[in-house]
Amino acid sequence: MFTKTLLLAPALLLAGTIAFWSFSSPEAAANETLTPHERLESGNERFASGEPARMHQSFERRSEVALSQSPFAVIVGCADSRVPPELVFDQGLGDLFVVRCAGNVLGAAALGSIEYAVEHLGCELVVVLGHERCGAVAAVQKGGKLPGHLAAFVPVISRVIQEAEHLGGDVLDQAVRLNARRIAGDLRGSDPILAELVHARKLAIVSARYDLDTGAVEWLDAAVDEPFAESAPEHGAQAAD
Ligand SMILES: [Zn+2]
Repeated sequence: MFTKTLLLAPALLLAGTIAFWSFSSPEAAANETLTPHERLESGNERFASGEPARMHQSFERRSEVALSQSPFAVIVGCADSRVPPELVFDQGLGDLFVVRCAGNVLGAAALGSIEYAVEHLGCELVVVLGHERCGAVAAVQKGGKLPGHLAAFVPVISRVIQEAEHLGGDVLDQAVRLNARRIAGDLRGSDPILAELVHARKLAIVSARYDLDTGAVEWLDAAVDEPFAESAPEHGAQAAD
């Protein structure tokens, strides 16, 4: 036993050295004390101001997360090339579990991915991130028959466009906001996994809008700082069907 301990000592020392290197950045250490929402908010402020910290992108970080992951948030984003969540929120390897599809429209496989991140990886925050001038939303707003599988967007997005037209103003932007909020609401009511965790106040699902011009993320829910207080699923959008 004693010999085995002696043999293990250098390995433990090496592991400790790697751990020290991984968390030696002052920004990374400070980041660890924030809530998931605060981490996203502060990361976006760094990105929007043009001063990203680019944490967790080092050789050491890559080694640290090579065998396992524990992302702190799920981002349900659009596939748009201008809205990569890791850049928008100034995060690095192993930080975010990202599910992206044009117009944030989710199928069963995407929903399963979110459930995996929440149930298996322990993420406590899901953010549905819509964005300004979303091409998928704009294509449905324009009307007409969309080719191929693009038609899959129509039934989902056309409903929020109808709602947005009643609101007036910039219909496309209203639809982007409604779409993100509606999807977040649908996820909050999604049985069996997500709804149960939301009701147990172990999971928060919120919506946000990314501004292509400023780089800023606007949080669309009233109580983002206290997400666990808002556990009831939203049915308002569905009631209009
Ligand atoms: Zn988009």
